[in-house]
Amino acid sequence: MQFEGRVALITGAGSGIGKAAALLLAREGAKVAALDLAGDELEQTAQQISGRGGEAMTLACDVSRPEQVRQAVERAAAEWGRVDVVFANAGINGVWAPLEELEPEEWDRTLAVNLKGTFLTVKYALPYLKRRGGSVIVTSSVNGTRIFSNTGATAYSCSKAAQVAFAKMAALELAKHRIRVNVICPGAIETQIEQSTEERGLEGAREPVEFPEGEIPLTDGEPGTADEVARLVLFLASDASRHISGTEVWIDGAQSLLRG
Ligand code: NAD
Repeated sequence: MQFEGRVALITGAGSGIGKAAALLLAREGAKVAALDLAGDELEQTAQQISGRGGEAMTLACDVSRPEQVRQAVERAAAEWGRVDVVFANAGINGVWAPLEELEPEEWDRTLAVNLKGTFLTVKYALPYLKRRGGSVIVTSSVNGTRIFSNTGATAYSCSKAAQVAFAKMAALELAKHRIRVNVICPGAIETQIEQSTEERGLEGAREPVEFPEGEIPLTDGEPGTADEVARLVLFLASDASRHISGTEVWIDGAQSLLRG
């Protein structure tokens, strides 16, 4: 119970990586402020945590909307009086399409959720994190950091690349407040992310890529699990990583070393 008495704010907690991290941090004693778009999935995360004897609250919120994020963070802080861990994880794949077919508003939406949402989550949590120090973990991706061959995923990859820059800028600015900021870059992980994906007009846009065998060397092609990513989040949130800040960690079974 290494997080006993601590509060973790997790965005995208209704599904996939965010949900796995919420369950794991709660199991380790953290009170979890679970933030996601309103819906049954968010409620289920909180119910599963309380069903296992943990404490959770739900914050229905769109991370791209400043006022909603501010209010959500303030609700969590008012309820529990502190915020120690922020996992800025909510994200969408958005529209993957050739540049000429990608509409400006589609570009804006991907950047608004993935990048602006990260900024807003951290910004509004800062007054509380500053009180005792803490750990911020941002979910980026192999796309935009090591993999550039998913033609069409330009808006997504740019948002994910910029999250790494954001994390490094924030790590230096916030070090004096004993706030660490790190960024995780998952490869293919089994979650619901396909539901936030629209692929259009990609036939012929992609360069042919051939691999010797499978795409993920460590697992012979099997994707990772959200729980494996949650264990990395647990490490970066915990005192075991207390001298680590401004660092990206790829968690992809060496996928991005094979495929750039
Ligand atoms: P997921 O779709 O299972 O979960 C994402 C969650 O974010 C969902 O619950 C969704 O409702 C929430 N969300 C989306 N838009 C939101 C908004 N505007 N406001 C609040 N919540 C919102 O997907 P996942 O794979 O768990 O994705 C989590 C993060 O991991 C994302 O940032 C994604 O880019 C990143 N990632 C995923 C993979 C993968 O293979 N699954 C690989 C690399 C990076």
